[in-house]
Amino acid sequence: MKRLMLTGPGELRWEEHPEPELSGPGQALVRPVALATCDIDPAVLRGAFPLPGPYPFGHEGVAEVVAVGPEVRSVAVGDRVVVPFQISCGSCRSCARGRTGNCRSHPPLSTFGLGAMGGLDWGGLWADLALVPHADAMLVPLPSGVDPVAVASASDNIPDAYRSVGPQLAADPGAEVLVIGGPAAPSIGLYAAGLAVALGSARVVYLDDSAERLEIANSLGAEAIEGPREARVGRFPIIVEAAGGAKALRAAIDATAYDGWCTSVSVQLQDVALPILDMYTRCCTFHTGRAHVRPVIPAVLDLVAAGRFDPALVTTATVAWDESVDALLETPMKLVAVR
Ligand SMILES: [Zn+2]
Ligand SMILES: [Zn+2]
Repeated sequence: MKRLMLTGPGELRWEEHPEPELSGPGQALVRPVALATCDIDPAVLRGAFPLPGPYPFGHEGVAEVVAVGPEVRSVAVGDRVVVPFQISCGSCRSCARGRTGNCRSHPPLSTFGLGAMGGLDWGGLWADLALVPHADAMLVPLPSGVDPVAVASASDNIPDAYRSVGPQLAADPGAEVLVIGGPAAPSIGLYAAGLAVALGSARVVYLDDSAERLEIANSLGAEAIEGPREARVGRFPIIVEAAGGAKALRAAIDATAYDGWCTSVSVQLQDVALPILDMYTRCCTFHTGRAHVRPVIPAVLDLVAAGRFDPALVTTATVAWDESVDALLETPMKLVAVR
């Protein structure tokens, strides 16, 4: 089969590789049909993120099931499924608590398409075939009527956005949301804005200095405000920091209301000083960390199926599979490759 290899900063190439084969009763083989870039991929391709390769590339996509082991019950050959980027068994103590990003049955950081971060190489999704080790626990069938191209980023970035507003709005219905958008997690910030609108927030403010992202935020139903990330636009009970860097993080914490939640979905590559006394005084709940994507993917897909959230509005480039390499190297914000 063919698979796409990231061989270094700005270097991608297709290579021939032996096809994966089922080796356990709970596994599935899938054929990716719509692939998306994750927000860290453009940075990786520019050499600005510490995952330089070489490794098989791609960790966001929808695939068609082509073979299943005898114990697989929840999916069948021909189903179209979201493939979560994190490897999870579904039965260990962490998975039982919904902490599927820290599954204890495999080394920490076990994922598709990001190299052997956890010690094992699980292959990439930008390939003719991928082996899913726990089909029932991992794969999520698409509801009827949902376009695989629209939800190609439901493996990682859309559920990552959901965790920053979904549980918070469930606990505080209608609460106002501020998203500080920017280049570190650009699509996650936009998905968060769109999901907050879909989940009934009374007001969703999206702050950014990019005309492209502001226009997308507006199309998702958010109130788009142009300005630097440290602009004061008020205090909010729910804050999402997606811009990256110390200024944005500090601005997000400063904008968090009493008893508010602040979630940083950007990956801060440097240490950042935090105003702990202010946070204590305001009873600020601050969360950062990798999202546990698998448990929230069905909720995301339900919102799309119901017509309440359209993630396709965030996609900035769509190409045919064969044109992937050139398109990836142009590093658009959100690329989807289709076959
Ligand atoms: Zn990712
Ligand atoms: Zn597990």
